[in-house]
Amino acid sequence: MKIIRTKNYEELSKRAADVLAAQVILKPDCVLGLATGSTPIGAYDELARRCAAGELDFSAVRTVNLDEYKGMPRENEQSYYYFMNQHLFSRVNIDPKNTHLPHGMELDDAKETARYEQLIEDLGGIDMQLLGIGHNGHIGFNEPNDEFVLNVNCVKLTQRTIEANKRFFASADEVPKEAYTMGMRNIMLAKRILLVISGEDKAEILKEMLTGPVTPRVPASILRLHADVTLVADEAALSKLG
Ligand code: PGA
Repeated sequence: MKIIRTKNYEELSKRAADVLAAQVILKPDCVLGLATGSTPIGAYDELARRCAAGELDFSAVRTVNLDEYKGMPRENEQSYYYFMNQHLFSRVNIDPKNTHLPHGMELDDAKETARYEQLIEDLGGIDMQLLGIGHNGHIGFNEPNDEFVLNVNCVKLTQRTIEANKRFFASADEVPKEAYTMGMRNIMLAKRILLVISGEDKAEILKEMLTGPVTPRVPASILRLHADVTLVADEAALSKLG
């Protein structure tokens, strides 16, 4: 694993944008696996800035997001569809037809998970997958579990994740209880992975992920078995690693 250590969040955002931009420059029609959450926002801002400056071209880029809340309409401000449009898609010259997320309003789990699995396959796989990490070690919505769930699936969110996400809703009761997510196989088959981790509150889980056992109890730990992972982390997130 290549570790890029940054002083702070701002520098982390620029370095993460460098890695994503390099992918787009090397393969203009690449498939980017994208993520929501607060950590990637600065990198998306930087990509939007570079695109507006004419330094980057998204016209042929295809994207496939990790996850989406089930039962969440796209126009809801908390949907990941809304997030991606707000933070990236509306600000770069990407063709909306080339952007993909699970359909939150498809309530038939079997149908939606099969559709999204096939979609990833039809895109030819993911060239670079961007990931954040949850405080419990989740990636996408792959929560700590007794086993690694491999394919696109519908998950029940843990109480911890509901608690972490409730800041975006009027109350914890309004946080959706289920989500569609790529599975670990979908993520591990990405050719390259870019993991972004910021802040002292992530220091403990980052240490566990890098130094503890590879286990579905810490889903992100499996990334240690991937051949091409770049971790961009700030000093605060790396502070427990010495
Ligand atoms: P965050 O989320 O970037 O908002 O901390 C990361 C995650 O839960 O995957």
